[in-house]
Amino acid sequence: MSEIVFLGTAGGRMVVANQIRKSGGMWLDLDGNAILLDPGPGCLVRCVELGLKPSRLDCIVLSHRHIDHSNDVNIMTEAMSGGGFKPKGMLIAPWDCLEGNDPVVLKYVRKYIRNNVFALKEGAKYRLNGVSIEGALRLKHSDVESYAIKFRFENKTLGYIADTKYFDGIGEAMKDCDYLIINMVRITYDDRFQHLIPGDVEKVLKVAKPGMAILNHFGMQVVKAHPRDIAFRIEKTTGVKTIAAEDGMRLKLDRARAEEDSTLERFIK
Ligand SMILES: [Zn+2]
Repeated sequence: MSEIVFLGTAGGRMVVANQIRKSGGMWLDLDGNAILLDPGPGCLVRCVELGLKPSRLDCIVLSHRHIDHSNDVNIMTEAMSGGGFKPKGMLIAPWDCLEGNDPVVLKYVRKYIRNNVFALKEGAKYRLNGVSIEGALRLKHSDVESYAIKFRFENKTLGYIADTKYFDGIGEAMKDCDYLIINMVRITYDDRFQHLIPGDVEKVLKVAKPGMAILNHFGMQVVKAHPRDIAFRIEKTTGVKTIAAEDGMRLKLDRARAEEDSTLERFIK
């Protein structure tokens, strides 16, 4: 059984800094493989709180280097490898997370996973047992490398559109997703931060037409406007089943793309 556990749903500096929503990224269990996606601040603590054992992890993936996506990458890499005593696992991250002037992945920690560190790029594909992890599209997000990612498993595709401003081509690149997670940080566009807003999400969904869209990574504007209400409006406008992630939400990935029902959300607590 495959599922996503949303460790936290905070996006944007103020929601993260004040923990108005929890942060920490997503734990994916795909066909028996445990993958950590964007381990932001609090990831380790949230895993323990939710009964998820970091030593079970097989892989950590970063979409980009911003602190709300990468803060806990080092401690989670250490924890994945049993404190470095049981080297295993892999790490996939954009080049600027690994090299350049200011890498976010510490070099000594890489030894704990036998330097199984790979660059995320558009078109790159990495294999983890039955799961394919693919750099689907280079996004446009301030001055960092940010990517949309696809996870293919059990004849299904889970897509993830990380932080980006809108541009034509996102919807086309994410066309074949059964599930599509979209980071929607703001309500109004601000070029200083370069994030998707609800109107952008609608444009993406009208082209991508996933089986289900899951909104995530909410900044203060979105929290105040109630993510569930926004999801409801987006679903009405696009015809795409759309939900808003909640802290601790578990989403089972057991449906074929065309199926639809409204009993998908289950909360750990
Ligand atoms: Zn970012």
